[in-house]
Amino acid sequence: MNNVPFILLIEDDKAISNFMNTVLCANQYRVLHAQTGREAIALSSSHCPDVVLLDLGLPDMDGVEVIRTMRQWTQVPIIVVSARSREQEKVDALDAGADDYVPKPFGTAELLARIRTALRHNTQGPGQDAPSGKFQNGGLSIDYEARRINADGNEVHLTHIEYKIVTLIARHVGKVLTYDYIIRNVWGGRPTVDNQILRVNMANIRRKLEKNPAEPLYIVTETGIGYRMIDYTVD
Ligand code: CA
Repeated sequence: MNNVPFILLIEDDKAISNFMNTVLCANQYRVLHAQTGREAIALSSSHCPDVVLLDLGLPDMDGVEVIRTMRQWTQVPIIVVSARSREQEKVDALDAGADDYVPKPFGTAELLARIRTALRHNTQGPGQDAPSGKFQNGGLSIDYEARRINADGNEVHLTHIEYKIVTLIARHVGKVLTYDYIIRNVWGGRPTVDNQILRVNMANIRRKLEKNPAEPLYIVTETGIGYRMIDYTVD
């Protein structure tokens, strides 16, 4: 029973939480339900969930504040499930420390896939360590020791910065990384670096990595937010 993943569901809308609870239980997850931000913060510290599903519009506090508070002590994957659709709102949630963003209304299969991705990352441990060994995702492989990248059978020659960008996104495969997050981690947050420089680098990466850079198969753009490496390791 201890191996059954434990999900903290934070949702104040009864109809939605009942529906999600049914879906999650039918898929063999254990679910703990919170209706307010304060309740959620208390439960997340006392029960150590494996994944948090978070609605942003809560009666007592904003969901982004819940993320910031939880991030003071836990790296549990937080998936925002919200009807807020403005890009800035998604960016705010991701920058506060959310791992993923699923817009409402959501498809059940999509939500379950995001949960599986989050759980896999959680068991892989913290992503801050220098990566080692080999990474394989569809036709893309990274040999971290040899510092070699291979795409669809061809060796890819990247600049130092391009290599840092690709390996950072690969370490978070399946998750959207914001422009700010990538810039902070690749350039060390130098204020002279803006999204435009990242975009130029990404265009170069795609020319080298993708069969058709206009329709990338490995690293896709989340418009106005950042980039995501498509996860081909699922199921
Ligand atoms: Ca709500």
